[in-house]
Amino acid sequence: MDIRNCRKCGNIFNYVVGPIICPACREKQEEEFQKVKKYVLENPRVSIQQVSAECDVDAVQIKQWIREERLEIAEGSSLYINCELCGAPIRSGRFCDKCRVEMASGFRNVMNEKRTDVPRHPSNNEKGNPKMRFLQ
Ligand SMILES: [Zn+2]
Ligand SMILES: [Zn+2]
Repeated sequence: MDIRNCRKCGNIFNYVVGPIICPACREKQEEEFQKVKKYVLENPRVSIQQVSAECDVDAVQIKQWIREERLEIAEGSSLYINCELCGAPIRSGRFCDKCRVEMASGFRNVMNEKRTDVPRHPSNNEKGNPKMRFLQ
């Protein structure tokens, strides 16, 4: 059993998987999602702030749904989120096309930083320190 505090209401619950929110809040969130989804479909030209106000749902939550690609944004809609690197307006995911291309070509190594702790060329250490061999 993994007992946690719900991030939304603070109640303790038996955590299983996914976001740390209790079943009651999860259900409420699902209702909010359906409400937002319907509103966005019927009003494709509204901004996130308007959706947030009309549906009484946090704008941060709406942006998260867009990022997770749960909430689809129709062509011509004025809804958008921002690229996490350069802030350009995007319709889904985390990065704009430009940043994605730059990351793929290795220009921006944000995604790969954690993988560099395994040395790819162990022989470089020996070459860099030739004197070490004679210290014994
Ligand atoms: Zn809760
Ligand atoms: Zn970008």
